[in-house]
Amino acid sequence: MTNSSCALNRYGVLNELGFRYDPSNIYQQVIDSVLRAGEILELPRHLQLILAQPKNELIVHFPVLMDNGDYRLFKGYRVQHNNILGPYKGGMRFHQEVSLDHVKALAVLMTMKTSLVRLPLGGAKGGVQVDPHAISLDERRRLTRRFTAALGNNIGPDIDIPAPDVGTNAQIMAWMADTYINTGPEHDWEGMSVVTGKPLAFGGSHGREKATGQGLVYVLDEMLPVLGMSMDTMSFSLIGYGNVGSWTGRLLAERGAHMRAVMDHTGAIIATSTGTQGENVGGGIDTIALAEHVQKTGGVAGFAGAEALSIDDFYALDVDLFIPAALEQMVDEKRAAQLQCKVVVEGANAPMTPQGEQVLFQRGITVLPAILCNVGGVTVSYLEWQQNRTATTWSEADVDRVLREHVVVGAKHVHEAAKKYDCDLRTAAYISALQNISAVYMLRGIFP
Ligand code: GLU
Repeated sequence: MTNSSCALNRYGVLNELGFRYDPSNIYQQVIDSVLRAGEILELPRHLQLILAQPKNELIVHFPVLMDNGDYRLFKGYRVQHNNILGPYKGGMRFHQEVSLDHVKALAVLMTMKTSLVRLPLGGAKGGVQVDPHAISLDERRRLTRRFTAALGNNIGPDIDIPAPDVGTNAQIMAWMADTYINTGPEHDWEGMSVVTGKPLAFGGSHGREKATGQGLVYVLDEMLPVLGMSMDTMSFSLIGYGNVGSWTGRLLAERGAHMRAVMDHTGAIIATSTGTQGENVGGGIDTIALAEHVQKTGGVAGFAGAEALSIDDFYALDVDLFIPAALEQMVDEKRAAQLQCKVVVEGANAPMTPQGEQVLFQRGITVLPAILCNVGGVTVSYLEWQQNRTATTWSEADVDRVLREHVVVGAKHVHEAAKKYDCDLRTAAYISALQNISAVYMLRGIFP
């Protein structure tokens, strides 16, 4: 198929489903690039149609008692995109900008992620529209329990398995599991495996907290040699110093890489070891001390071991790797034009707009796609679920070893598809994920 007939077919699928074309809509951006891969693969049209919309979109409204005695009504989402490979799987986000299209886009990416590394799981995502930092711990607990109860049997260890995401953590997963266990006569102790990313003492897995960062480092082990780069000498900058960003920073620093700059919602900082001309004169930001600072203060701004930096200078910094590990759509055309890195490593889901991606392609900057780079989280979630269901506890070394095996498989598939279809790495990752999904659809057929 030629490029233009591809585009026509793709818009045909979206038209048939009633989409009104909006290039700034994150769901349309994501599904468009997945369908582009589907067309290169000549995926049957009925599979393109099926994958272009989630199977289920659940919206719940529920009241929560606030500390001041008032009740507030919250809106929660769970989007179940696809379960041809196994139970729906994906994070629960607490963030003020959670919206249906956001959650839909992230659910598609989960389907692609689990398929790329061949996990027996589908894709889902959910969340609540709330700023979790603006409410108290007690309010968060009541909100989590009421949201979980509202989801009822739409989640379950064999149905749909949530996990942490932006704004949620192991404690919230513990409350979700406990609520689930307590709200159904058929929910026995096995109900604990309804969520992953739980605390270690309550069914969690060794290595889950660092898993996304660890997976990213394993991805770099596979991808950097092909690009002629080596981890121990390189420099990097990071957007976000939450779970993914801070673990990525720490683990890369352990391998000898220099973290030169970090940006988050509180501002940007640069290593004091940076010379007046912006050159790296050795060392980098102390990744562990910065994690402690962020824990205490809520952001990177004001960290004593670094200097403040303007946002424009942050993007324009000369580094080997630029790692967006925060929210979606942060790198648009303007930011992509500013970047002075060799490789963009997508720690976050969909951190770049398609327009930003085009600019990077034109400038010859390689992009390592999110569904490979951040697959470590869901992979170790899968290992936690396996441990819960077999009542076993694996050592961190065992978890890391199996995680690496899945990452190696994913990276190999991406390389093979990129070579065979002569395409960029994101398209290659989608092609490989779709090949796996379509093989199962062909075997199972469409019910009835
Ligand atoms: N929220 C993470 C992600 O976006 C982890 C999902 C999971 O463990 O199910 O990949």
